[in-house]
Amino acid sequence: MPAPATSSILPVYARADLTFERGEGAWLITADGRRVLDFGAGIAVNALGHAHPHLVEALTGQAAKLWHLSNLYQNPDGERLAKRLADATFADVVFFTNSGAEALEASIKMARKYHSANGEPDRFRIVTFEGAFHGRTLATIAAGGQKKYIDGFGPKVDGFDQVPFGDDAALKAAIGPGTGAILIEPVQGEGGIRPVPTERLRALRELCDERGLLLILDEVQSGVGRTGKLFAHEWAGIEPDIMAIAKGIGGGFPMGACLATAEAAKGMTAGTHGTTFGGNPLAMAVGNAVLDVVLEPDFLDRVARAGLLLKQRLAELKDRHPAVIADIRGEGLMMGIRTHIPNTDLVRAAQDHDLLVISAGDNVVRLLPPLIVGDAEISSALDRLDRACSDLEEEMRQPLKGAAE
Ligand SMILES: *Cc1c(COP(=O)(O)O)cnc(C)c1O
Repeated sequence: MPAPATSSILPVYARADLTFERGEGAWLITADGRRVLDFGAGIAVNALGHAHPHLVEALTGQAAKLWHLSNLYQNPDGERLAKRLADATFADVVFFTNSGAEALEASIKMARKYHSANGEPDRFRIVTFEGAFHGRTLATIAAGGQKKYIDGFGPKVDGFDQVPFGDDAALKAAIGPGTGAILIEPVQGEGGIRPVPTERLRALRELCDERGLLLILDEVQSGVGRTGKLFAHEWAGIEPDIMAIAKGIGGGFPMGACLATAEAAKGMTAGTHGTTFGGNPLAMAVGNAVLDVVLEPDFLDRVARAGLLLKQRLAELKDRHPAVIADIRGEGLMMGIRTHIPNTDLVRAAQDHDLLVISAGDNVVRLLPPLIVGDAEISSALDRLDRACSDLEEEMRQPLKGAAE
């Protein structure tokens, strides 16, 4: 069905003219039966692909029992999910949210409250990095620091000091007596799949320890197996004090979480924070089901192997199409293609070959297939990208040919 000429949905998204009726694994299917290969996975949300039987069973089974319970009562499935997340990570405690931005809000509030509980309420400032994306609430747009998201929405929330990505001197200069934390994505997602080198992450951890700062990681996009480890920071062998997650943990059901050490969370006592829907039984059932699969002994190794295959095939693609592709970067199944042409041209050309990929900052095209993607599907995606690149090269030749004639 084509997009309606007039829509009653607030037009804050420029939507592609694509309508899907259902999904199966890495595939999306239109009403007229066209099969489209999904290498965006809802922007890293559908970690286990579409309609994964274990997730469908968990959600529908829970739907017949209980949808919503206030956080005024006990939450056994939430207890179980929190314990499993804590056991699998650095964390001692977990706060459940409905989105990534809310997980970041909880993380930011927690860091401020920590210093306040230590008798230093003025240490509320947080250092963030250029190109970051932390969500669309008033605090998280201030944290992300991107002008296009901040402009027109009134005074920017105070307390965020942004430094250029990878500039040590600027980072040290930005840390003052009012600084309480550093917030960073181990791999920038919206910023264009920019991984923070492992030695830099280690240096950030050391800097935080030296200066009594909390290290907050935003793993909303890079977490839950995306890079081939459960969380991307594991590649650097470091641990944060606070971490925001979302996207993949719900496998398509809206949920997020703020994970923290008991020390970092010590200011968050009864009544200091809350949510109506966070931790609801539907989300907890699905979150536990996602972990059932992702924590299977072989699962992350398979993601890492699929990631290597994808990286190899992308390197070959770059060699074949040097006029289109400038650079390949990323980790696991979180890969970016930086293009010489406008990135949205490659997104559109791929779409013409029934492949969904997603644009990002720094003129990058993101590949974020579901973690269950098979080798044959990776090959198929690369064939489609190959044809898309050839189409674009053909388009590039056209104007020259026209000028010569
Ligand atoms: C998507 C994203 C967010 C925001 O998540 P929402 O669920 O859209 O609020 C925050 N941080 C990162 C790194 C993200 O990729």
